[in-house]
Amino acid sequence: MSTVAELEVTYDTLYIGGEWVPPTGSERITITSPSTLQQIGSVPDGTEQDIDVAVTAARRAFDDPSGWSRWSAEQRQETLNKLADAMDARAEDSALRTSSQNGMPVAISRAFEGPFPGMVLRYYADLATKQDVEERRPGLLGGTSIVRRTPIGVVGAIVPWNFPQAITFLKLAPLLAAGCTVVLKPSPETTLDAYTIAEAAEAAGVPAGVINIVQGGREVGAYLVQHPGIDKVSFTGSTAAGRKIGEVCGRLLRPVTLELGGKSAAIVLDDADLVGNMEALFGSMLINNGQTCWLNSRILAPKSRYDDVVETLSALANGVTIGNPLDDGTQIGPLVSQVQRERVEGYIQKGKDEGARVAAGGGRPDGLDGYFVQPTIFADVDRNSAIAQEEIFGPVLSVIQYDDEDDAIAIANGTEYGLGGTVWTQDQERGLAVARRVQTGSIGINHYVNDPAAPFGGVKSSGLGRELGPEGLAHYQALQTVYLDPPAAG
Ligand code: NAD
Repeated sequence: MSTVAELEVTYDTLYIGGEWVPPTGSERITITSPSTLQQIGSVPDGTEQDIDVAVTAARRAFDDPSGWSRWSAEQRQETLNKLADAMDARAEDSALRTSSQNGMPVAISRAFEGPFPGMVLRYYADLATKQDVEERRPGLLGGTSIVRRTPIGVVGAIVPWNFPQAITFLKLAPLLAAGCTVVLKPSPETTLDAYTIAEAAEAAGVPAGVINIVQGGREVGAYLVQHPGIDKVSFTGSTAAGRKIGEVCGRLLRPVTLELGGKSAAIVLDDADLVGNMEALFGSMLINNGQTCWLNSRILAPKSRYDDVVETLSALANGVTIGNPLDDGTQIGPLVSQVQRERVEGYIQKGKDEGARVAAGGGRPDGLDGYFVQPTIFADVDRNSAIAQEEIFGPVLSVIQYDDEDDAIAIANGTEYGLGGTVWTQDQERGLAVARRVQTGSIGINHYVNDPAAPFGGVKSSGLGRELGPEGLAHYQALQTVYLDPPAAG
C-alpha cells in the first residue's frame, strides 16, 4: 500500500478572460483536509464584481463574430482534443487534489476524476463534428425548412464537491463542443482541483474568455444564476438549492438544467446472487463514502431473503477498509466536512429513534481523527420513515422488506426522488421488466455506472434535463428554423 503526501497549494488570482487576474475582494477560502484536519490550501473568495468581470469576458468571447461560437465543430475539436491532452497530463494531480479536499478514496479519484475529463472532452468534440448543424427538411406545406442548431450562449455552471472534476466536465465538454462559453463556479470545498482546469485551458490554447472560473459560495452562485449576461444555467447540487435556482430561472424564462439529489432503490429479487456481486454492491451503494447522488441507499428485500440480505450487506459494511483517502487500499474515507458528518450522524440517530435496528456500524471508527463515520446498515426500516425517504448523502443504507414485486416497485417509486436504481437478479429479462416500471432517470441490472454515451439525470425532485450522451449536447444548443418558399413553378 502506498500513501501520497498531503497537498499545500495556494493561489492568489482567478482565471478570467484568459488571464490570471487579482480578485476584487480580499476574503479567502481555506481548504482543510477532512482526513487530517490540516489546512491544505487557500484561494481567493470571489465576489459579485468578479462574476461581473467573468460574465463580460465570457460574453465577449461568445459574441465575437470570428470567435469560438462561430468556429466550425472541427476547429473546436482540435482545441478540445488539446484540452483533453492537457487534462490527461494533469490527471494524477486532479485525482490527488480531489481526494485531499473531499476524502474520496484515491483509487476512485484515479479511476474517475483523473481520466474522465479527457474522455468526455474527446467524446463531445467528436460527436459535434458528426452532427448536422443545418439540416434541410422537406415540409408538409410545399416548402423546405432549414433546422439550425446554434450554441445557446454564455453558460453559468455551478457544481458540487462530491465528484468535482467529473461533474464539471459533464457540463464543460458538451457546452464547449456546442460553441458556448462559460463562467464556472466550483464548490468552496473543492476549489483546488478547479485550478487544474484553468491551467490546462491556458496550456491548450483555449481562446481567452471561453472558460472563466470564479471561486465562491452560494451567494456568488446565486448572483451568477440571475446575471443578465447569462443565457443558460447548468446546476448540479442539492434539491433545496435546485428549487431556488429553478424558481429564479422560471421567472427569467432562462433555460436551466438541474441535476439534484436522490434516494435510489436497489430492488433485490428472490433469485439474486449478492455474494457473487460484492464489488458491484459496493459500487452501487457505498462508493465515494456514500456521497454519490445516484447511490442506492434503500435496499428492498423480499421476505424470503430479508435476513440473508441484511447479513450480506452487514458483512460488506464490516469488511471495508476505512482510512486515509490517500492510501491506495482505502475503500471508505472521511465525509467531506464536519457539517456533513453532523448531518449523517443526525440521520443515524433519527433512524435509531424511529425504531430501526443497527445491523452494522452506527458510530465512528476507532483511531481516526478526521470526519469518519462507519458504513452503517439499518434493518427493519419503515418505508415511510425519514431514513427511508430523505437523502442522507453518507454511508448509511436502509434495508426495507417488501411483499411481492408490485410492492417492491411501489416502495421504489414511493419517494419524491427518481435518479438512480438497480435490480438484482440472475434473470436479466425479469430484471428488465422490473426496471421498466421504476420511475427513475437511470437504472442498472446487477450494477450501475453512468456511462458517458447514455443520458443521465433525474425525474421528480431529482432534476430537470439530462447530461451525457447526444442528449447532453442538445441542452447547449438553440434551434432556429429558416423557412424557404418552394421555387416558383415554370
Ligand atoms: P449544494 O446544493 O449545497 O451546493 C452545490 C453548489 O451550488 C455549490 O457550488 C454551492 O456553492 C452552490 N449553491 C448552493 N446554493 C446555491 C444557490 N441558491 N444559488 C446558486 N448556487 C448555489 O450541494 P452540495 O452539498 O455541494 O452537493 C451535494 C448534493 O448534490 C446532494 O444533494 C447530491 O445528491 C447532489 N448531487 C447531484 C448530482 C446529480 O447529477 N444529480 C451529482 C452530484 C451531487
